[in-house]
Parts: sequence; structure tokens; C-alpha cells
Amino acid sequence: MLRKLSNDQKLLWSFLALLWINFVIFAAFSYFAQRDQLIDNALQQLTHQSELTGNTLDEWMSSRLGLVTGLANEIANKSPDQRESIPQVYFERIAATGLLQYLGYGLENGYYISNPWPLPDGFDPRLRPWYREGKQAMEPTISEPYLGVDDYTTTYLAFTAPIIRDEQFYGVVTGDVSFNDIHQKILSTPVSYNGQFNLIKSNGDAILRPIDPDSDQTPAEFFSNSLSRDELRNTLSATSVTEFTGESSIIVFYPLQHVNWWLSAEVDKDVLLTPVYHSLTNILLLFLAIALTTILLQKIYARRIYKPILRKIQTDYHTDLPNKNTFIEQMHKLTLSNLKHGLCILIHFKDMSSLLSSYSQEVVLDIQRKTLRRIKNSFVRDYIVGSVSHDQIALFVPFLNSPNNTFVERRLQHLETVLNAPFHIEDENQEQHTILSAINLASARYPEDGGVFDIIHKANMALSTLQNSSSHYTQYHNNVIKQLATESELIQAFHNALQNDELSLVFQPQIDCSSNKITGVEVFTRWYSNSLNKSISPQIFIPLAEKHHLIRKLSIWLLHALFSYINAWLKSRLPVPRFAINLSSLNLHDPVFIKQFFQLLKSYNIPAELLQIEITEHISLELFSDGDNPLQIMRNHGISIAIDDFGTGYSSLTYLKYLPVDTIKIDRTFIKSLPDSQSDLALSKAIIDIGKEFELKVVAEGVETKEQLELLKQHGCYQIQGYLFSKPLTVDELFEFVDKWNLHKQHKKLITQ
Ligand code: C2E
Ligand code: CA
Ligand code: CA
Repeated sequence: MLRKLSNDQKLLWSFLALLWINFVIFAAFSYFAQRDQLIDNALQQLTHQSELTGNTLDEWMSSRLGLVTGLANEIANKSPDQRESIPQVYFERIAATGLLQYLGYGLENGYYISNPWPLPDGFDPRLRPWYREGKQAMEPTISEPYLGVDDYTTTYLAFTAPIIRDEQFYGVVTGDVSFNDIHQKILSTPVSYNGQFNLIKSNGDAILRPIDPDSDQTPAEFFSNSLSRDELRNTLSATSVTEFTGESSIIVFYPLQHVNWWLSAEVDKDVLLTPVYHSLTNILLLFLAIALTTILLQKIYARRIYKPILRKIQTDYHTDLPNKNTFIEQMHKLTLSNLKHGLCILIHFKDMSSLLSSYSQEVVLDIQRKTLRRIKNSFVRDYIVGSVSHDQIALFVPFLNSPNNTFVERRLQHLETVLNAPFHIEDENQEQHTILSAINLASARYPEDGGVFDIIHKANMALSTLQNSSSHYTQYHNNVIKQLATESELIQAFHNALQNDELSLVFQPQIDCSSNKITGVEVFTRWYSNSLNKSISPQIFIPLAEKHHLIRKLSIWLLHALFSYINAWLKSRLPVPRFAINLSSLNLHDPVFIKQFFQLLKSYNIPAELLQIEITEHISLELFSDGDNPLQIMRNHGISIAIDDFGTGYSSLTYLKYLPVDTIKIDRTFIKSLPDSQSDLALSKAIIDIGKEFELKVVAEGVETKEQLELLKQHGCYQIQGYLFSKPLTVDELFEFVDKWNLHKQHKKLITQ
């Protein structure tokens, strides 16, 4: 999953993860630090508050016990007969304090008097709980809460004191306080942190119930579930305040003086820790806000700034296709999926630089767009496409299994046919152009031929083998590597070739079939490399020389070699009347070369009429002003000009009007598939017609069979060059050929040899 994320996303997520880890550490730290502190503080406060309230309660009880004790002493001090007629003033005095609600006393003989309660009939004080408890305690004491006899709904606490004289028990004084008052008083005494007071019995019962008339009247369990009754019993001390920290609450117990009860103060931990939770929530919100802002900013940044820049970096400026690096990255991604095989197809626009120099950018882009559309129409499956150099488009077609050779061969063949068909393009001036873009194709297989990073290179190597062949497509095979020395090796060897005399000239005769005469030869350069121990095709070393600025040297070498032959032959015997030499378009754009050309012509004393210059359609002659046009200057000297590989280029014919051309050569690739290919036949015918129209000589090159010859003658092309008559020949072979030709004059015999 992580592999599918972009680096950018990985960065974002790791930042957020880091933020999160920070938050957790920070939160844990502040929680533990604050929690202990808060609990300590709370316990301290609770202790303090319990002591205050407990003391008050103790005093409150003391004062009431004091009252009943005082009355008990008063009665005890009377003589027995006076005890039943205790003067009302005592009652009045004590009642006036308002500290007790009822006051009364019972004697062992069943006498009972109370104020202000009217005595019910048959009331026997000795049966009342306060009497029994008071008698049992034999000291001032506070009874358990009990229900009053008049309505049996109100709970009272009885403060009792025994009437004792000379260790003789006479009766019990009792004073009542409505338990509700205590209840109210304690429960409504505020405790910090929303805590609560209660009264606890030693067995763990909570004496006070919530102040709610509807609530259950049975004594509640101690409301804290922080500790069990056993724990409670062990915790409670009769003499000192005890603190207890339970799971969900903290409690402080204060032992009351006059009764076996404890005042408890309890605070819920959740309430206590609320500030901690609050601050943690705040921090969490802060972190969330940071995370959200980061994601948001990243999204905005990505959409507004980063993506457009990335797009610019990732795409080719002209074609708007993914560039080489992006294409490689996309291939890489594809190969990570289920489709673990693939075919990389390189489409090479051979004429790209000349297309660009002859047409507007728009027209060239249109050609590329149309090419892409043709590719799209000829593929059923998905593929990715990229612009890997200024004149190469690459496709990558993923497969589940490696496609077989025949399949690939058919695909390439089909693509080649589709892509090499002419384009009809309208330029910005609404002028129609029919343009042939010469395309070569090469494929390499992933992963058999190479990994994603060198598959394009492998396809390129395969592509370069096409320079030597008439085919327009090929597949990469391992032996391609052996066939091709690396480029740097070649350049080094070529440097040596120019110095070590490894170059030589060969001559291929051109025949005029109407007169059966040899009209001339085309001159080619041959290179046998001693260091590489093999001969290298001009299809390889000419582009190499052009690329590495050695083409001037090479052409000058050719002129020296050819001119010294001609110079020598002029003194004895000239084998043919015309020598056609191939010049690179770079040569024509090189003023230094042009100057040397004429100097050499002069110094070797060569009549200009003996020479013909072959150029390809691709040179952009509109770059020259009329006076500077080197071809015009050559033509003026009497040198004839031929256009090589006619028909393979893209040019419109208009340039034939202003170029000083006298010959056009039908390219070998058209002748090759004659007479089978109807389209090539049509093209050849068209070229012958153009020749007639513009009054140009038409030479067919690469003629290998009699059928081809007959077909060409039939359509009016008589100038023939090709293996049918002769391969390119060495000097000696050339003289031999010429002699033989002249001797027989019967070319038909020669043909059949
Ligand atoms: P090109 O000018 O189109 O030359 C024709 C090529 O076709 C030559 O290949 C020639 O040997 C070959 N050829 C001629 N007749 C036949 C035939 O009947 N069948 C077949 N299959 N091939 C035939 P080569 O010599 O390999 O030269 C290839 C290209 O290299 C030439 O194409 C030309 O563009 C360039 N070149 C060769 N020598 C020179 C040179 O000295 N200077 C420059 N600038 N370019 C050269
Ligand atoms: Ca040529
Ligand atoms: Ca040619």
C-alpha cells in the first residue's frame, strides 16, 4: 500500500504520524503530572473541609447532649417525689434555646412527661428505643435515627442522658432533633470539586439518603463503589481522619466524637480530573487543527503550485506528452502491477529536424497528434506513451505474459504501415500539405531484453540497426549488442580512421537504358576499422560524424581522395563522365567547407561538369539568401545537383522551382517492393511524372531485378542504378566493369550473367 503512495503523500503522512506521536507523548506526560498533583490537592482540601464540618457537627451534638445532660442532673438532684414534678421552667428554658424540638424524660416507674408533645394514652416510655439505649449506655448518648410515634414518617435523632444518682439509675432524659435538619445541613454543605458529605456507619451504610422525596427510603449503601465494605472497615479509624484513594473517587473520613459515625467527603475522580481532560481535549483539538491545516495547505499547494510545476517538469514542452523520466516512472509503476511483462516500442521520426525547419511548429505538432491518433486506433489494449527525445515517441504496452515474436512482428508491421501513410495537414494559412513522415520502429521486451531503466536504450539499439537495412521496423535481439560497438568506441575508432587511412572509395555505375551508356557513378565511402576488426556501414558512421562534428573532415577527405583520382585519370583515361558525391546538409551549411570545396576543385584542376552533388530533400535552403545559396553557386560553376531519396521526405514540391536541381533519385525503398506494392508503384510513377513536369532527369536507385527495370522503363524512367547492373565497385573493379560494358555493349548479356 505504501509503495503506491507518491513521495509527497509519504512525506505528508509521516509528518502527520510524527505529529500524532508527539501528541500522545505530550498528553500522557501532562495527564500523569497533573493527575497526581490534583489528587493530592483535592485530598488536602477535603481533609480540611471534613475537619471544619466535623468539628461543627461535634459541637452541635455536644451542645445538645449538654442540654439533656444538664436536665438529667437537675432531675437526679431532686428528691424522688419531686422528680415527677420537675418545674416547667427547665423545660421552658431549654425549649427556648430551640436547639431541641422535643424534650421529655421517663422514669423507671413509667412516668413520662414531654414538652410540647401531648402524651398519647397508655404511652410507656420504658418501651421506647431512646429509653432502652439511654439506659444501656449509662452515659449521654445519641440514638440511631428512629421514626417519631405521632406520624411514623419523620426520622428523629434522640439525644439522651441517664438520670443517675449515687450510681443508681432512675430514668432517661431525651431531646429530639429532626434528622432532616442534619440531613439537610450536611448534604447541602458545599464540598470542593462538586464533592459530597455523608455520614457513614461502621458497617459501611450511608446514613444520609439523597434529598429527594421520591427516592428509596431504605438506608442506602455507601454511595462510593471505590471501595468494598471490607476495605472500608479496615480504613475507618475511630480517632483520626483517614484518606482513601479509590478507583473512581477519593474519600476522606472524619470520625465524629459523640456517635459511632464518620463524616465522609467524597469527590468523583472524573470531576476532579475534568480540567486535565479539558486541557487534553484542547491539545487534541490543536493537533487536529494543525493536521487539518497541513492537509488542506498541502492540497491547495499541490493543486495550485506543485502540480502545475510538476506537470511542466514531467511533460515534454512541445508534445505535451510525458517526458522520458516520467515515462520511465510510469513504466515502473505499471510493472509493479499484475502486468509483469511489456513491450516497449520506439517510434522514430527520421525527418524531425528537417520537418521542423520546413514547417511551422503547429504543423509538426499536428503530424505528431495524428500519429498518436493512428497509434491509438491500432491498439486494442491499454498502453502508455511518452516523448523520449525530440524525434522519438515511446510506447509501453503491458502484458500478463511475454508476447511471442510473431505477434510482435505483426504489430510492428501493422504500425509501420499505418504510421508511414501520408498525412494531410492544413497549415495556419489554410494551405493543404501532403506530408510523408518517415518512421522507423523498434521494440524491446520487458523484462527479457532490459529493465525499465534501459529498455528505451535497448529499443534504440535495435532502431540503429535499421540504418543498415531497408526495413522500417525491428525487434531487439541480444545479438544487437554484439553487432553494435558502443558509440564512444565507434567515435574513437572513426578518429583513427581519418588518420590511419582506413577509408576508401567505391563507385556504383549509373546506366542510361535508352542509350545503354554508363552515364556516371555514385561515389560512396567505405570504412574498414582495423581496431574493431570489421567494416562499418556508412549508415552508422555518417550520422556519427554529423553528430560529433567530424562531417567536414570526412567530406574533405572524400574530395581529396576523389579529386586526386580524377586528376590522375584526366591525364590518362577517365572511366566515366560524371561522379556523383553525397554531401551532408551540414556541409552545405558550413561556409568553411564550401570555401575549401572550391579551393580543392581549383587546386586539383577538376572540371566542374564532372561532378554531381547529391543532397537529400531535408536541407533547409530557405536559410540562404539567393546570393549565398551554395547549391546555386555550384550550379553556376556547372556542377549538377541531384535530390537523393526523393519521396521519403516531407517537402512540398514548390522548392523544386527555386532549387537549381537537375536530377531526382527515386529512393531505393520504393523500388524495393516493386512490382508487388501498388502504393510504391503509384509513388514511383508520381515521381517520374514530377520529373517530366519539372524537366528533371529521374534516376531509380536500388534496382535489383529485371521486373523492376522493365516496370521503370515502361513508365519512362531509363536512368538506372542498382545491383542489377553493379554493386559499388573499387577503382580496379570499376575499370574492369567499364571495359566489359564497352566491349559487349550488349547489356542484356550482362544482365543475365
Ligand atoms: P544513398 O546515397 O541513398 O546510397 C544508396 C545506398 O544504397 C548505398 O548504400 C548503396 O550501396 C546502396 N545500393 C545501391 N544499389 C543497391 C541495390 O540494388 N540494392 C541494395 N540493397 N542497395 C543498393 P551505402 O553505400 O551503404 O550508403 C548508405 C548511405 O550512406 C547513402 O545512401 C548515403 O546517404 C550515405 N553515404 C555513403 N557514402 C557517403 C559519403 O561519402 N558521404 C556522405 N555524406 N554520405 C554517404
Ligand atoms: Ca546518394
Ligand atoms: Ca538514396
